[in-house]
Amino acid sequence: MREDEVCRKIVLAGGEGCQIVYCEGCQVVEVQLGAISVHLELTALHNLQSILGQAAIKLSVLKAIKVSPEFHYDQFNLE
Ligand SMILES: [Zn+2]
Repeated sequence: MREDEVCRKIVLAGGEGCQIVYCEGCQVVEVQLGAISVHLELTALHNLQSILGQAAIKLSVLKAIKVSPEFHYDQFNLE
């Protein structure tokens, strides 16, 4: 974060305890999870969105394997 910039924060999503804020002054995205706050460049936010999506899909597949033992993870190309 550049100290000489005036912070102008805009809440993009979420709420108390879990939210994503964009600072126009610093041009960074702040991911707030409880007491933890992580600053990300805009490209990093898009990367995070992508891997969160992949993780959610793979978790769904893993749960499907538990429900149907004959279901094989290898049948899917999730990359
Ligand atoms: Zn700022």
